[in-house]
Amino acid sequence: IKESGKAQYDDHGNPISFIGVSFDITETKQLQQQKDDFIGIASHELKTPVTSIKAYTQVLERMLLKKGDIVEAGLMKKMDAQLNRLTSLIGDLLDVTKVNSGKLQYNHTYFDFNEMMRFAIEELQRTSEKHQIKEDLQEIGLVFADKERLSQVVTNLITNAIKYSPEAQQIIVHSSIEGENILVCVEDFGIGIAEDDLNKVFEQFYRVSGNMQHTFPGLGLGLFISSEIIKREGGKIWVSSKEGKGSKFCFSIPRARANDY
Ligand code: ADP
Repeated sequence: IKESGKAQYDDHGNPISFIGVSFDITETKQLQQQKDDFIGIASHELKTPVTSIKAYTQVLERMLLKKGDIVEAGLMKKMDAQLNRLTSLIGDLLDVTKVNSGKLQYNHTYFDFNEMMRFAIEELQRTSEKHQIKEDLQEIGLVFADKERLSQVVTNLITNAIKYSPEAQQIIVHSSIEGENILVCVEDFGIGIAEDDLNKVFEQFYRVSGNMQHTFPGLGLGLFISSEIIKREGGKIWVSSKEGKGSKFCFSIPRARANDY
């Protein structure tokens, strides 16, 4: 139940009346819950077949390459890239329902930070021929964090950099140690973001509107999920951008976490 209202007082400050409205939002909450449950179940069901199609595609690509069927292998690679997009859309839908219900799980381990970075970059470079992803990585060593979730953030930022720079080929991925923190930035020279939209791009379902919106497919969830992950790692995520010039998305996370695990 949501209530709002105003009390009225006499000259001595004693309350004499109260005018108010109260809404019963139980039903709205139930509908929201049902919607989240449905999205959660549907995306979970979609995930399994897509994962096996992706595995078959990769096997077929290797078989065709072995046989020397370059053109057919190229088609398989394109299919693999599209399946990556589908997998990430389904993953975003699954994650957003988990974030909204506080059920996004974290699994913290020690891992080599740059190895995770290089793996993510390699996977994206493999499926995107037009863009060149330049690595500018300082050796960081072992980090105690959620490897899969951080890899998801890096992948999301690079995927966006590629998607929103159809004319420019260069993407720069930077990582360094800054005092107590690790800093990661992904810079592109693409369409950029207008100043008014800059602080909204991390909101759930927010997409910059305009003619460009239909050119670039998406759900407007990637940055929202990324910012939730970075918050949970005790870090910060931000963007600087100039319309028509390009964008630079950065996040920083503490190198060593307080003893809360
Ligand atoms: P999606 O890309 O699926 O729309 P995101 O949450 O990843 O969702 O991004 C939200 C919005 O922020 C995008 O729709 C786009 O308008 C803008 N955006 C994100 N990354 C970039 C980028 N590198 N360059 C320009 N605009 C971007």
